Amino acid sequence: MASLHGGGPLRLGGSLELSMAGAEANVAIGLARLGHTARWAGVVGDDELGLLVLRTLRAEGVDVDTARTDPDHPTGLLVQERRVATITRVHYYRAGSAGSRLTSDDATAALAGGARMLHVTGITPALGPDAASAIAHAVRQARELGTRVCLDVNHRSRLWDRGTASRALAGLLPYVDVLVASADELPLVTGGAGPAGDGDVPALPAAGTGADEDVPALFAGGTGADGDVPGLLAGGTGADEDVPGLLAGGTGADEDVPGLLAGGTGVDRDVAALFAAGISEVVVKRGAAGAEAWTADGGHATSGAVPVRAVNTVGAGDAFVAGYLSGLLDGLPLGERLLRGVTVGAFAVASDGDWHGLPNRAELSLLALDEGETVR
Ligand code: ATP
Repeated sequence: MASLHGGGPLRLGGSLELSMAGAEANVAIGLARLGHTARWAGVVGDDELGLLVLRTLRAEGVDVDTARTDPDHPTGLLVQERRVATITRVHYYRAGSAGSRLTSDDATAALAGGARMLHVTGITPALGPDAASAIAHAVRQARELGTRVCLDVNHRSRLWDRGTASRALAGLLPYVDVLVASADELPLVTGGAGPAGDGDVPALPAAGTGADEDVPALFAGGTGADGDVPGLLAGGTGADEDVPGLLAGGTGADEDVPGLLAGGTGVDRDVAALFAAGISEVVVKRGAAGAEAWTADGGHATSGAVPVRAVNTVGAGDAFVAGYLSGLLDGLPLGERLLRGVTVGAFAVASDGDWHGLPNRAELSLLALDEGETVR
């Protein structure tokens, strides 16, 4: 979607800078900057803002060959308002937008060329039944094709309530290999006790969010990866019933799961439940506190955030995911891919714009320099 960034309270008017944004697009740009092949699968309107979105993605080296232009719906828009120096508000104008009209055919076309990884978020399925069905279709097809699936929960409470989101995402989980979430989003996918109001699950919308075929799930941009990075998918998709290692022999849920995670904190229990459900990798974003990751075969790593002066935190999560997936596609060990994730996340925090300040490979070490230093 297109985006406008402002420097003060919107109601006062003034200048706004026009660009583009979107969770999956941000991840695709982050991966492309790091040298990976990335494709964005989405829909824009037949309008100038749609051209801006496609032009920007192309300029960033993201493949938009299967992106579609919808003549009947406009390109979505968000407006970022810097209300005070450190507080940003985001206003969305995307009801009825072209992006919400993503279809299963779009997903099929995007995956047809082959990709090692499909990245989807919990935002797209919340846009409407078409997009939700497209995402459900995409993750199933990815599994059939041997393409690993990464899901960033990215819960947006203004788009749907926790109960509805929870049921829609549950339908995707059997196809997810890598799950990324904030700690408070984990109960949403495990069905655990979440924040207040969770228990108050409302009726499903007319489009239905049950399990399986007609889950109106999400879709996101597929992020392919270098053809020349070997072997990531060798040995299968790694997220089947028969999850080896730490949890083997467990009951597949909650308190009763034996081993390292038993009796742990709420997060530990959620992670154990996700492994029991077949997820192979769980990554938790913790904002300025960094991130933590677990693999189903017993791997565990934590990383503090890279200290930076926060300029704008919007897009930090997407930048983190781009860094983490880049490490995964490069075959880095768990701790190193987590480090790449927090590093790229810090770039987003330390610069204006959701994706504008993301690094290329040569710049990954830039944040180690002293503040104010000039590179000549
Ligand atoms: P958003 O939805 O705004 O993109 P998020 O909630 O998905 O954000 P966060 O947990 O806020 O994601 O941030 C993702 C990662 O970015 C963190 O794990 C951390 O590595 C990095 N990060 C976030 N905030 C800061 C900060 N203030 N300083 C340094 N790094 C940060």
